[in-house]
Amino acid sequence: MKIIMLGAPGAGKGTQAKMIADKYGIPHISTGDIFRANIKEGTELGQKAKTYMDQGLLVPDELVVDLVVDRVGKEDCANGYVLDGFPRTIPQAESLDAALDKLGEKIDFALNVEVPDENIVNRMSGRRACVSCGATYHIVHIPTKVEGICDRCGSELILRDDDKPETVQKRLGVYHEQTQPLIDYYKAKEVLVEVDGTKDMQDVFTDIVNILGA
Ligand code: ADP
Ligand code: ADP
Ligand code: ZN
Repeated sequence: MKIIMLGAPGAGKGTQAKMIADKYGIPHISTGDIFRANIKEGTELGQKAKTYMDQGLLVPDELVVDLVVDRVGKEDCANGYVLDGFPRTIPQAESLDAALDKLGEKIDFALNVEVPDENIVNRMSGRRACVSCGATYHIVHIPTKVEGICDRCGSELILRDDDKPETVQKRLGVYHEQTQPLIDYYKAKEVLVEVDGTKDMQDVFTDIVNILGA
């Protein structure tokens, strides 16, 4: 099962993608996590990506497309995967489709997690992220058992640099301009499904499982 998560920054894509990956036993591929891991390791890719991420801008397509195309060709992706944060532009989607076409494969579901802009700033300011395993929490809505410590792996949680309110506004603008057109793109391919992301985490997941099938 090949799944794409669509939605604004902070809509809950990563949260749901992790739950999907666990339930269906497929890899969760988050381009944001890949970039953050590269920044942490100080790689050349990480240094390049950081300058864009800190400004709330998208990393250029050429820095992200090959990376994802390579990743989905790996053996652990044979039974499917959940892509989170990719594609984010029409050219990225077209490149992915071209690569999948060559393999005789296609995306099965593009899940659009809908949350109005008004709710997004609240979600992002309360977001805490684990840089070790990629898990995300919310100080009010999805708290950890021990404050500041990841439930999954015990590492320390951080407030992401790009989750500051000014940067969040910028990212929302970029989303509407560059990423939202993907909704129509996947609608035309008849794989788009809308998900109400304003519900509680578990209820959103139940809706998703009803779509994907048990
Ligand atoms: P969020 O989960 O809040 O939407 P991500 O972790 O997916 O954020 O991405 C963080 C940042 O990484 C983005 O703002 C962008 O700068 C960069 N990024 C991640 N994925 C992509 C992509 N597919 N194309 C371009 N930039 C990306
Ligand atoms: P995205 O990957 O789309 O940027 P995240 O999954 O990181 O979004 O979620 C953004 C923030 O909102 C996090 O703090 C997360 O814990 C919280 N969150 C996720 N889903 C819900 C939900 N259904 N209700 C309330 N808060 C949520
Ligand atoms: Zn962790």
